Amino acid sequence: MLDRPAVVEPLDDDKTPATFTGNRGLDQEEPLIFEIGRVDATGVDIDDPAPIATRLGALERTAPIGLPGLTEPETMRHYVRLSRKNYSIDAGLYPLGSCTMKHNPRSNEKIARYEGFADLHPLQPQSTARGALELMQILADWLMTLTNMPAVAMSPKAGAHGELCGMMAIKSAIAARGESATRNVVLIPQSAHGTNPATAALLGFSVRVVPAAPDGTVRAQAVKDALAPDVAAIMLTNPNTCGLFEREIVDIADALHEAGGYFYCDGANFNAIAGVARPGDFGIDAMHINLHKTFSTPHGGGGPGAGPVVLSERLAPFAPVPFIRRNGDSLQLVEDAEGTQSFGRLTAFHGQMGMFVRALAYMLAHGGDGLAQASKDAVLSANYVRASLRDVMTQPFGDRICMHEVLFDDAWLRGTGVTTLDFAKAMIDEGYHPMTIYFPLVAHGAMLVEPTESESKASLDLFIATLRDLARSAKAGEVARFTPAPRLAPRRRVDEALAARKPVLRWEAKAAS
Ligand SMILES: *Cc1c(COP(=O)(O)O)cnc(C)c1O
Repeated sequence: MLDRPAVVEPLDDDKTPATFTGNRGLDQEEPLIFEIGRVDATGVDIDDPAPIATRLGALERTAPIGLPGLTEPETMRHYVRLSRKNYSIDAGLYPLGSCTMKHNPRSNEKIARYEGFADLHPLQPQSTARGALELMQILADWLMTLTNMPAVAMSPKAGAHGELCGMMAIKSAIAARGESATRNVVLIPQSAHGTNPATAALLGFSVRVVPAAPDGTVRAQAVKDALAPDVAAIMLTNPNTCGLFEREIVDIADALHEAGGYFYCDGANFNAIAGVARPGDFGIDAMHINLHKTFSTPHGGGGPGAGPVVLSERLAPFAPVPFIRRNGDSLQLVEDAEGTQSFGRLTAFHGQMGMFVRALAYMLAHGGDGLAQASKDAVLSANYVRASLRDVMTQPFGDRICMHEVLFDDAWLRGTGVTTLDFAKAMIDEGYHPMTIYFPLVAHGAMLVEPTESESKASLDLFIATLRDLARSAKAGEVARFTPAPRLAPRRRVDEALAARKPVLRWEAKAAS
């Protein structure tokens, strides 16, 4: 007789197991592969090898390797069940602010699978990969045109990696001026994404925080107050992480340049302005573009990102290798930094080719006017959510038009016994991935909602109605809907702080009992 598996969680608060298997209908429990595998089972059927004399000596394995054994169907089911636990933009609305979880058109996927792109090897001779170089160059041209910047480094593999690339170029430029010892501070606004101070610190800069004004934006005067001869750069996000456009950005750039610093713009929110405003016109020196946020390539659990960095005339000489150079009619990939001011190589090979193909497919499908429309629709969607919820939820910087994401705080929850975290967890019971919470830090109990342009009005209306119902419930004192949430998910509320501080990353076999 088989016992009920040990991991089964009770469905109700009276600790009654809901089912024998732990499955909830077709939402199936899935233990670790090591827990379900049996050494005697295997997906292949080959004869034992004939005895061979190895020369491993003392290194020879004396115990079995301990791989989980499963049949082919069991293996398939294991991974398919795991994949079904992965919430994705293809499963439902994904309002995670700052992340721009937009639809990835299937036409991109189809084109990325063309043999000529998908089967390229990064070491094959350049002469056999002319089309790939051409594609990278066309994408680079689009990125430079959309940003009005003269150069772009294509190889960074994510936004944070792009920050590293841009800040390494800035560090090299400062070194070339002979100011490494004296310029070692980076200004970072209070509302910044955590990757900004992390990047600065990783490169040995110290961080000076610029306070946000009461309206959630950065004043040029606040930057001027923080400027000194030790300032190497500012890292400023526009639109910022409160979903607001930094209106004084040109004055900020001027003040910084006058003081001898460089302007790093975090371009993760480019989806709000692509085709509408050009960051080069703001006076920036470097900006990463998350292809996975702005140009619809998959991200999160869905695949690798890409974070090309556009660079100003002043920083272009320090760009990493490899880069593409036009030689008459043909393109050449320059892979050797020798004899240039390039800070060197940032990654193996040339960047995320699959993402380049998808991003360019998206751009060409939309055209310049279509990209502008997508940006405007993203802003419209966020403002539709804002206007539809403003009578029940509060916003930290007053009720005004936002960009592509809308920021709420928890002032409206005060006295209800429900916290931002409870509210977010209750959204899971309703089938929604929660919005970003407790970020940015400038808003108390922040809830940052980014619907993106790819949601239909019907989809937004259902989302809004759900949040309105949860808000009504919280205000009516129905705490039981919130504090135990999620009640209907395969796992209940987990101790996230403990999980982050003491992660258990290694599976260990339980001693046989
Ligand atoms: C997403 C994001 C980043 C980091 O980008 P990744 O591609 O996740 O590394 C940096 N800054 C801001 C404002 C972001 O939203």
